Formats: sequence, C-alpha cells, structure tokens
Amino acid sequence: MRFILIPSPPHLPVRWPKIYTGRVTKVGSFATHDLRSDYIKKNGSWGLLKKWLANASGHKCWYCEAKSTRAPFDVDHFRPKLGITVDGVKLAGHNGYYWLAYEWWNFRLSCQRCNRPEKDHGGTLRGKSNEFPIQDETQRCSLPAASLTTESPRLLDPCVQTDCELLAHSIDGEVKPVAPTGTWEYLRARYTIDRLGFNEWNTPEEKRGRWQTLATLLTVVGHTANPYVIAELKKYLSHDHEYSSFFRSAIGTHRDKAWVEALL
Ligand SMILES: [Zn+2]
Repeated sequence: MRFILIPSPPHLPVRWPKIYTGRVTKVGSFATHDLRSDYIKKNGSWGLLKKWLANASGHKCWYCEAKSTRAPFDVDHFRPKLGITVDGVKLAGHNGYYWLAYEWWNFRLSCQRCNRPEKDHGGTLRGKSNEFPIQDETQRCSLPAASLTTESPRLLDPCVQTDCELLAHSIDGEVKPVAPTGTWEYLRARYTIDRLGFNEWNTPEEKRGRWQTLATLLTVVGHTANPYVIAELKKYLSHDHEYSSFFRSAIGTHRDKAWVEALL
C-alpha cells in the first residue's frame, strides 16, 4: 500500500461537478432507504472518475498496488454506501454512508481481488466488499451531519500516510504488520492484510519471482555501480511500478552497497 496524495484542488474531470450536484440533490430528496438505494444502484456515476483515480496511483490498485492487466478496476467506497458488515456480519440499524456515495474523497481505486467478496483456496472469505469495522462502535456515524472524525476505521486507508507505514514487506513477498502484536496498529494491519488477501492468490510468489531476477543482478554487479542495473532498479522503485513498496523494501536489503543506498 503506497500513500495516495490527491492534490488540492483535486482537478476533477470537468463533467463531474454538474453530475455530482444532480446526484447528491436527488439522493437528499428521498424519504426512504429503499428509494435512495435503488437510485444509487442505478446511478453509479463514480465510474466516470476511474481514469482520474488511476492517474493518482500510476494505474495501480490503491490497496495492494497490483496493476489491473486482465480485469477492470472497481471504484471502492471506503465507507460503504449502502450497508455495512463487520467481520462478515451485517451491522443492524445502519444503512451505510449513503450521503458519501458521490464524494470523490470516499473513493478508492481497487482491484477486484481487494474489493469483491471471494473465498480463497482455503475457504476463507476475502475482499473488502461492505466491510467497515471501527474501533468503538458507539462512535459510528449514521447521519450526514455527524463528524466522521469520531470514527477510527480498522481498515488501513491508502489516503493516510501513517496507515501505509503500518505495513512492511518480507523478502519472501509477504506483507506483514509493523507494530507489535496486541496493539491496535497491529490489529489494523493484520485485518487489512487478511481481509484484502494481500498474501493470497499467489501474490507473494509472483513478487518473489520478479525479485529473484533483480537480486541476481545486484549480486552480479556487487559494489560497482552499473548504469544499466541502476536504470532497471529505478523502474521497480518508481511510483507507478506494480508492488513498488515491496521492491523498495527488497532493494533496501542491499543498502550496504553505496550506490544502492543512493537510489533509495
Ligand atoms: Zn488490490
């Protein structure tokens, strides 16, 4: 997970403000959840921002940093728009953060693995879907006027730099928590890794395979800087490279070479 910084002002597509105003006005006019839900489901206009969201991350999933080579990205609502689950159980008495359905700052570009519910090979359900647990359920916002700052989300947010710093990478390609076991920070990282399946679907193996090629190059050139190897490493470290956080960490294990240290 790499920190996503949206510039201020966000330079949204020119068509968006008009669509946004129309949708939000309409959602606010409905008296019942069923009417709102029906409207929002039929007017998923956030797809118009997909390209804009992709540009912000170098065309990578905001959560796991995978490129979407064979399937289109989803636009995830960080706070679910039409109902919430906590550890797979529907939260009673809450219809979701419907008033955030069209707020760009609630959107996270997500690969289908991270976003959609699917059981892995061991039968464990992965994918964010409508999951949104918070630390203290009594602080849950259920009305548009409520301040969201009272909520401490359990899921790590790629738009919060300190959240991204709670994840580390093993040389074997696995993502792991940084904080000590038993802390809220550990729990958040563990939950995010497991729920979004960062270490499932053969992802660590894939990262490891690519790293082995780089590791061989590093071993061959040793302490002597080589412009071709430097150019290659720079590609892996660049913001838009798939799993660049992992490669930064893996390349960092060769910091004893002065020329590698200078790259990081
Ligand atoms: Zn993903």
